[in-house]
Amino acid sequence: LRSFSILFLTCVTIVTRFDWCFSSITSSSSSSLGGGGGHFSFDETSLRNAARDFGNRFQYQPMAVMNPESVSDIANTIKHVWLMGPSSHLTVAARGHGHSLQGQAQAPNGIVINMESLKLPGMQVHLGRDSDSDSDSDSDSPYVDVSGGELWINILHETLRFGLTPRSWTDYLHLTVGGTLSNAGVSGQAFRHGPQISNVQKLEIVTGTGQVVNCSKDENGELFHSVLGGLGQFGIITRARILLEPAPSMVKWIRVLYSDFTAFTSDQERLISSSENDDAAFDYIEGFVIINRTGLLNNWRSTFNPQDPIQASQFKSDGRTLFCLELAKYFNPQDIDVVNEEVEEHLSYLHYIESTLFLTEVTYVEFLDRVHVSELKLRSKGLWDVPHPWLNLFIPRSNIHKFAQEVFGNILTETSNGPVLIYPVNKSKWDNRSSVVTPEEEVFYLVGILASAVGREGIEEVVGQNRRILEYCERSNLGVKQYLPHYNTQEEWKAHFGPKWESFLQRKSVYDPLAILAPGQRIFQKAI
Ligand code: FAD
Repeated sequence: LRSFSILFLTCVTIVTRFDWCFSSITSSSSSSLGGGGGHFSFDETSLRNAARDFGNRFQYQPMAVMNPESVSDIANTIKHVWLMGPSSHLTVAARGHGHSLQGQAQAPNGIVINMESLKLPGMQVHLGRDSDSDSDSDSDSPYVDVSGGELWINILHETLRFGLTPRSWTDYLHLTVGGTLSNAGVSGQAFRHGPQISNVQKLEIVTGTGQVVNCSKDENGELFHSVLGGLGQFGIITRARILLEPAPSMVKWIRVLYSDFTAFTSDQERLISSSENDDAAFDYIEGFVIINRTGLLNNWRSTFNPQDPIQASQFKSDGRTLFCLELAKYFNPQDIDVVNEEVEEHLSYLHYIESTLFLTEVTYVEFLDRVHVSELKLRSKGLWDVPHPWLNLFIPRSNIHKFAQEVFGNILTETSNGPVLIYPVNKSKWDNRSSVVTPEEEVFYLVGILASAVGREGIEEVVGQNRRILEYCERSNLGVKQYLPHYNTQEEWKAHFGPKWESFLQRKSVYDPLAILAPGQRIFQKAI
């Protein structure tokens, strides 16, 4: 009883101090945190920035923004909120680069932790036992230890100094490690290496009770798997160990067109099926849909400049719906002859429209950072910070034709306000113990309908279109799952998780029992 009383008194003291910290908001726009080096910001600009995201549709201001310099700043903050108990409304959201779509990194009247300010002792690259070997064993692999608030573009540049690179990416690299690992991190390399969450060896986590815990598959495995794809619900990722491989210097970047959806998907599926034992024909496989477009060349997504621009500019879609298969082969200049031969051979098996082979060669960095070039162009025209009512779906292979027929045939009438990505991945490269939800088939497709919208009417139109797509999937029982999901009710979340809901709930009760973390996902409400 005596030790309980002491503990209770300690808690009261901490809570009182913390309340004092917040009650001084009005007199100061910034307040330092004892010990860890970080500070709170309360000024209008910081609060407004923390309420913005790439989606640009939901804006909920926090009460304070915490700029941590150390893990203990984060742990102490969460511990304080935890000790305030269920009677306090305060919640905490980690904010990576704020590239969520529907307020997922926001904390209405709570605390937003600005993860990019977390200073760890720099990125630590470890060369592995033999960085030149093709060993399949992850334990021999080179790796880099990074802060959870690190941007992937910085990791690319740092690891390249050692001739190394992460294996699995997102299409856009100005996102943080913690942000993409909380979702999955999917791009054209996922068919081969799995999503980014399959390429992490260790994590350091601050849980919803303020505990700092190291975890991996073998150590605190339940927490490790919970956090990966866990939508920020179980803890804040403060450090991650990312697997690396030898980096190429150049990339052959290829696009070919199809008008026949069956030929397009058959070729995509055949290409991803050769991913075992490192003998994949290509290193990156994606695709996109082109609906109701003429003058394809200038409107094609991103910075792709074909080697024969005249031939490309002469190609006309004539209003047809086309499907573009996008491939990349990594290489080093000394291997160019072998690579050319291999690429030619693999292309000869494909069934694209003759005369639509467009090819270019770029550096590895140019290839990976390609969307940033588009970003700069859009920014210069004031078209980057517009609302983005994106819809991302995972669709089982068995229903992709049905989906395409209705969605590309009837619901989407054009693709001029943003790309529509479509590519398959192999489920066996995803770890089912993680929190992410995928369809129950070995091959499933990622379809990303990445629209920009201007004006209220523009938003309503795209949102209505997205709703019709989701209603169609539901009505037709296609077994579709949302990626970067967004729902308004817990019933919808339950349906999203399906058989995984019970374990998601159980994990929440262990790692964040008061539901303090990531309130912007709207899965749980803090118990009060
Ligand atoms: P935020 O938006 O800041 O956070 C996302 C969620 O994670 C929030 O709930 C937040 O609270 C939580 N969170 C953030 N940091 C941490 C942390 N350290 N620990 C625990 N939780 C945390 N995704 C893909 O998979 N593939 C793509 O190719 C791809 N391309 C994209 C291109 C663009 C232009 C954009 C804007 C997004 C793209 N995304 C893609 C989506 C992207 O992965 C997610 O939006 C991701 O959440 C953004 O990362 P962020 O660092 O901005 O995270």
